[in-house]
Amino acid sequence: MHITGQMLIGSRDVTGSQAAIRGIDPATNEALDPPYNGGTQDDVNTACELAAQAFRTYRKTSLEERAGFLEKVAERIEAIGDALIERAHRETGLPLPRLQGERARTVGQLRLFARELRRGDWIDARVDCALPERQPLPRSDIRLQYIPVGPVAVFGASNFPLAFSVAGGDTAAALAAGAPVVVKGHSAHPGTSELVGRAVREAVQECGLPEGVFSLLFGSGSEIGQSLAKHPAIKAVAFTGSRSAGVSLMKTAAARPEPIPVFAEMSSINPVFLLPGALAQRAADVARGFVQSLTMGAGQFCTNPGLVIGLKSAELDAFIQAATEGVKNADSATMLTPGIYSAYQQGVEHLKGQAGATLLAEGKLDSDRSNQCQARLFTAQADAFLAKPHDLGIEVFGASSLVVVCDDEAQMLQLIEKLEGQLTATLHMTEDDTELADRLVDALELKVGRILVNGYPTGVEVCDAMVHGGPFPATSDSRTTSVGTAAIYRFLRPVSYQDVPDAVLPPALKRANPWGIPRREA
Ligand code: NAP
Repeated sequence: MHITGQMLIGSRDVTGSQAAIRGIDPATNEALDPPYNGGTQDDVNTACELAAQAFRTYRKTSLEERAGFLEKVAERIEAIGDALIERAHRETGLPLPRLQGERARTVGQLRLFARELRRGDWIDARVDCALPERQPLPRSDIRLQYIPVGPVAVFGASNFPLAFSVAGGDTAAALAAGAPVVVKGHSAHPGTSELVGRAVREAVQECGLPEGVFSLLFGSGSEIGQSLAKHPAIKAVAFTGSRSAGVSLMKTAAARPEPIPVFAEMSSINPVFLLPGALAQRAADVARGFVQSLTMGAGQFCTNPGLVIGLKSAELDAFIQAATEGVKNADSATMLTPGIYSAYQQGVEHLKGQAGATLLAEGKLDSDRSNQCQARLFTAQADAFLAKPHDLGIEVFGASSLVVVCDDEAQMLQLIEKLEGQLTATLHMTEDDTELADRLVDALELKVGRILVNGYPTGVEVCDAMVHGGPFPATSDSRTTSVGTAAIYRFLRPVSYQDVPDAVLPPALKRANPWGIPRREA
């Protein structure tokens, strides 16, 4: 498979007519071929109208047909072979083993959604049979199922060029739900996007599905991205990226004549709480694991541990000393784009300029390569953090973290009160810490989407019980997750059928239950 620099609009290859975007090798700043000319409003219209047409039949496909389609997408992505990994490496600077792992995760989550489709329990079919003899009034026959909302606009993420991009988690969840997808490819990895987009299109064709089930557009976010979110055929938006772009999409979606939901995953600093028992037992080990989690992938994870909180003590000092050494010895790593590198540098300068923050350590720097993330570790007293939580608690996307030293447990709890919504919170604890852990969990579950103990927040398992979400600004809608099988609910809505004859009921609700799915019957 080779790349041409074109958009994929249904079954057609379309050359854009707007300014060209090129992938950039961030390690050298070399611009890569081919150029990708951006799409126009007409291209957005065509992709969205095809998606609306496709929705009419795609939403009616059987669970087995859709499961087979997702498995075919996975197979076609694997068939691209090394060319995909090599192109993604050039465009993102991410190491080859990381990208190989990410491809495995991408095809794994497509297959997980295929399994989910076959289970059928996500349809949440409910049957309340008629009670004609009920007094004082009879009850009608009422049945409920979840149906897809309609075509979904997906914005590929820069930091997961495979697992959260063209055929990533958002696309897999939407296609599983029965919703066609129009992707706005991320400008940082257009070649990778085209390769994966072609694999999805092959699967659409091989499965005999309508062409509008999938389209891939290129162009600037503020033009193509905004037009997509405004198009009347689009019924939901899925996004991973910056807080400013996510909020802008939320405003656009809310201002439409028909407002639509936006599922944006944006900003999180993922606090890590070091409890006294754990520090007394293993301060140096915890520091080692923390530095690994902080510096992995140049810290470009939404779950990067950007805030560490402990109680003033000799044991916390030992952790700080070990973490400081670890950060000083950490190699620099290439960041995804010059823009992300520059935002990282600005974030670090911002923290350096804060009166309450002290720089503890700077990592190594490979000055032969461009856009290098040099790890940073800062510290601050809790009083200073509590006085300026928005200045000291900012997300610095990259390998930077702040250790906050609290005088007592009450200050730890005050600090939680001041935190914005988060994807994760982590506790390092032993049995001796149970009482404090219980109070912290009680406060944290109101602030975060996932609480983990004696681990590190990076590395998000794709499974049934995962929540990768949380209150704003972690996401735009705390009721959902963007990772795991529960992510399908973002693109579904419930419909009740009251006294509808069996011949007219959808298969999931017919009396004979022809799909054999689990149902709640009363
Ligand atoms: P971004 O600037 O938010 O871009 C993400 C996508 O949104 C791109 O396709 C972009 O298009 C589009 N976009 C940008 N502004 C838009 C707007 N006003 N309306 C509609 N679409 C818009 O994110 P990024 O370039 O990936 O990284 C920048 C920063 O985002 C990072 O430094 C980091 O702070 C944050 N980030 C967070 C996460 C996370 O997981 N939470 C992940 C990645 C990045 P174009 O670029 O093509 O214009």
